[in-house]
Amino acid sequence: MSASSLSSSSLGAKDHPSMIQALPVLDTQDSAVSDVKTRRFTLLHKPGLSLTNSLNKCWFHASLHLLANVPMLREYLAEYPVSSAPLYKDFRKAIQAIIGHLSPSLVSNFFEKISAFNGVNNRYGQIAVPDFLEYLWTQLPDCFKSIWTPSIRKMQCLKCNWVSYKNSQDMLLKVYIPTHIGKNVSLKDLIDYNFINAHSEPSLCGHCHVNTNQKTVWDFIPNLVCLEILRVTERKTKSKQLRWSKNNVSISFPTSGIHLPGSSSSFRVIGTCDHRGTLYGGHWVTRMYCKSNTWYEADDLKNRVTLASTPGVKDTSVVILLLIADTLLK
Ligand SMILES: [Zn+2]
Repeated sequence: MSASSLSSSSLGAKDHPSMIQALPVLDTQDSAVSDVKTRRFTLLHKPGLSLTNSLNKCWFHASLHLLANVPMLREYLAEYPVSSAPLYKDFRKAIQAIIGHLSPSLVSNFFEKISAFNGVNNRYGQIAVPDFLEYLWTQLPDCFKSIWTPSIRKMQCLKCNWVSYKNSQDMLLKVYIPTHIGKNVSLKDLIDYNFINAHSEPSLCGHCHVNTNQKTVWDFIPNLVCLEILRVTERKTKSKQLRWSKNNVSISFPTSGIHLPGSSSSFRVIGTCDHRGTLYGGHWVTRMYCKSNTWYEADDLKNRVTLASTPGVKDTSVVILLLIADTLLK
């Protein structure tokens, strides 16, 4: 399948074992629901329900708050009450409870249904939002394939110049932080580093039939994009033990007028998930962009959703960036 053939090698998964996790093959679009992605949407007036921390599940609450701020997901859930995926019914109730200020017990019920998910490798010292988002994607393929379009990479063999294209079924586009940068970096620099003229580790050229270095550029990026900034990396200690370490580099970005290679759209940030603290004592929160140019923050250690400053100002906590093309917003 394309997700795994897009392999680990080109994503540098050797350093990030969690990336090897394969995602399901997504079949051709169901025409009945494919239009969800192409409508124009409105933002929420305000984030919904405020969720309260218990059992150390901030990652769960932060993930659901982010997803509740995806406009096409809200419409999909409103229009499709039934799915063959066992988790769908409770997922739908949980998101709709958040949006509609319904009972928090609907969110807790969904938590009980995902008890099989144990966090992949807990690289943040606890379950990570990106790992949980990818888990949901694998569990709810019909729903997510209806709102997310695969992106396409163009690979060029540096030996024979043969060009090939690969679909990426990844929900999250991984953004690696270069090893030798200062204390600050711009999102633009990260995008250039990761998505323009990135050189992958050697992979098999379909023309030379040998392992060659490939130049990779993003050829198509959809109008809804979720970037994951990889703030944790794996390293080996002197005694050959594996350890994760966190990168708290500050990242600067605008929240609108963002351009990505492979798209002519201008993107706006409509949500972030943030990891604060260390790998030994960290906390996940979500920031959400709503109507009237207002940012809110959902932090389940506070008893209500609060107003937030705009993300992207020397931002040391952002991990997930949810972007939508301006043309999709009313
Ligand atoms: Zn070649």
